[in-house]
Amino acid sequence: MRFKQLFDDQSSTYTYLIAPDNGKLAAIIDPVKGSEELYMSWLNEHNLKLGYALDTHVHADHVTALGDLRDLTGCVTIMSEYSDAACVSRRIKDGEAIDLDGLIITAMYTPGHTRESLSYVMVDRVFTGDTLLINGSGRTDFQNGNAYAQYDSLFNKLLKLADETLVYPGHDYRGRNVSTIGEERRNNPRLQVANAEEYAQIMNSLDLPNPAMMDIAVPMNLACGK
Ligand code: FE
Repeated sequence: MRFKQLFDDQSSTYTYLIAPDNGKLAAIIDPVKGSEELYMSWLNEHNLKLGYALDTHVHADHVTALGDLRDLTGCVTIMSEYSDAACVSRRIKDGEAIDLDGLIITAMYTPGHTRESLSYVMVDRVFTGDTLLINGSGRTDFQNGNAYAQYDSLFNKLLKLADETLVYPGHDYRGRNVSTIGEERRNNPRLQVANAEEYAQIMNSLDLPNPAMMDIAVPMNLACGK
């Protein structure tokens, strides 16, 4: 597999480029508006065509590049079936898959950070968006977030993956770029709770300020960043 993890300094967002070793089709997860040239140069370097641009959820802290990449490459843009973004070309359900010349990416519905949050699962790794972060989890206090739903997504979906599954999050604020399901199960403080009530109590008392870009980013992202 050809794989590239990119970091956006401004929003601490991770973007992922994925393609099979033998094949022509690539996918990108959570691209950031303004970085299209970076993505295109990787695709060109590897002689790949962008087949799919996927967002894990409607972001509040950066503007998506889905619309710009669709205009540039003609790629299929994908979000969850529960996304309010009318601009996407395909809405994907839990268990539905994307086939990159034999390399499969499967959507796992993991609501909680937002109502429409998806994780994307491959054989050896999972892209968790803001559902599961390294040593943390995404806030649940806006965009129809729900701490109880997130508890279910974490404990009954993501933590059911094999311990050695690599965890690639949507953000990191401390320079960590990858973890595993087993490490998170053991070390992530948010996962050391006895039940959903205890989890919700933690999440509902975080009292975080809104992201600086929220009022711009959310409406733009509902239009694929255009
Ligand atoms: Fe988010």
